[in-house]
Amino acid sequence: MHIRFAHHLFDDYIFRRGVDYMEWGLVRQRPLNDPHVFDIVVDGTRPYNIQIAVDDVGHVLSHTCDCGVHHCKHLAASFIVLSQRQSKDYEVGTNLRLDSNINANVQDPALLHTVVIEQLAKALDVASKNENIDLLFEAYEYYTEQMNWLIDHHCYQSALVVLEYMMDEIVSYWTASNNDLEQMNFFKKQTLWIKSIASSYQIDPRRLISDVLLWTQLYPEIKTEVKGLWLVALCVFASDDLLRDDILHVIASVSEGMDHPKLLAEIEFSYKLYANEEDVEAYSLAHLDSDLIRNYLIDIYLKKHDSQKVIQLCREKIRKSPKHEDVVWVGPMLEAFRQLEDDEGFRATLKWMYYCGEHYALEHLRSITDRRIWREVVDDMIREFHQGAFSDWVYRHLLMEEKRWEQMAVYVSKNPSFIAQLYPYLMDPYPNMVYDLLIEHIDRLYRREKRIEILTPWISVISEYFSEAEGWQLIEKYKS
Ligand SMILES: [Zn+2]
Repeated sequence: MHIRFAHHLFDDYIFRRGVDYMEWGLVRQRPLNDPHVFDIVVDGTRPYNIQIAVDDVGHVLSHTCDCGVHHCKHLAASFIVLSQRQSKDYEVGTNLRLDSNINANVQDPALLHTVVIEQLAKALDVASKNENIDLLFEAYEYYTEQMNWLIDHHCYQSALVVLEYMMDEIVSYWTASNNDLEQMNFFKKQTLWIKSIASSYQIDPRRLISDVLLWTQLYPEIKTEVKGLWLVALCVFASDDLLRDDILHVIASVSEGMDHPKLLAEIEFSYKLYANEEDVEAYSLAHLDSDLIRNYLIDIYLKKHDSQKVIQLCREKIRKSPKHEDVVWVGPMLEAFRQLEDDEGFRATLKWMYYCGEHYALEHLRSITDRRIWREVVDDMIREFHQGAFSDWVYRHLLMEEKRWEQMAVYVSKNPSFIAQLYPYLMDPYPNMVYDLLIEHIDRLYRREKRIEILTPWISVISEYFSEAEGWQLIEKYKS
């Protein structure tokens, strides 16, 4: 796997968390001591240390993170940052230069897939002639862009043809050469397309049904979980009487021998739902261990304004300490409290939403609060933080948003390394403290890395806000 493409190794969910880390500026690349080893720190609940080793041309040899989770979000964030580097090191040899905007110039919608497939065929041809698998990643990125474009523009027929080309031609070559696709969870990532195409009413359902049947037979590496997701997607066709036999047939053949009760329940539930069977609700209540089914119930109860049931169904899923993953359950609960016109419940849930890391919730909470008591509300939240109710990074956001410089100063004096993030806020109210902490920060960095280059941004802060002469003195001091 080439360093430029390694970010594709991750599940969509982990990938998005990685993007968050990158966008929040929490990924720091340490200077290279060895050109083959990337040393990266990702700031989370604690700093996580990541090491990625590559060979002479940039193929990843090993990757580790000291959080202990396999394929974690910190690694995802590191690979995303590395893939965006402008550096010339480890560039991919041949560049196909596929034209991403190709679709926008095609006038006849029936021809859309033809141009995309021409490009993909070119990539496959060059890759197989040169035995250069990295080119397939380039084709894969192009394919993803084009599928997004086609789906966004409701060209489902073309999307299906492109998907078929990918699955039939490229994937069969790719899986035969190595296991990249398995590592990057390729098949799972196709679920979204299959789902959109199936729900489009533009295609011949029997064609997609037989495609899915064929692919599951063709590629034994497709995981049970993914097969289940695909069957769930196809169940949308059960709304048509004439297709029910086909659906039942594909479900029976693909799920044969599947030892996965939850997945089987989700497939059966989806079939019942679209075939409009009467016992869907009763069936759902008996299968609440499935999030898919639980979500369905939440939706119907919300529509029926059966708010207490919504609250109960959500509450069972929300963990004791706020986690960003729980936002999907906190959302409907908020809606239920709104339906009940339960102001207290609504506010408490909104606050929880904020603690889970949804920044907009603070703004919302402020907008519905009598401004005369807002200070007390924030004081309460600060108190709750000190009782361990939520994470540091939400706390820092709260202090910045609410301009609580005093508490921020206390926080930074206990966690001095955060001066790097917080110094612009504290500069005017606490110049002396900022000065001292920056000097310490510079010294700490020097002791850790022993390199003047990484000190210069901080020395510039000293020069700019305090004294240029001292800035020069610092440079002299650490040079020697
Ligand atoms: Zn990690």
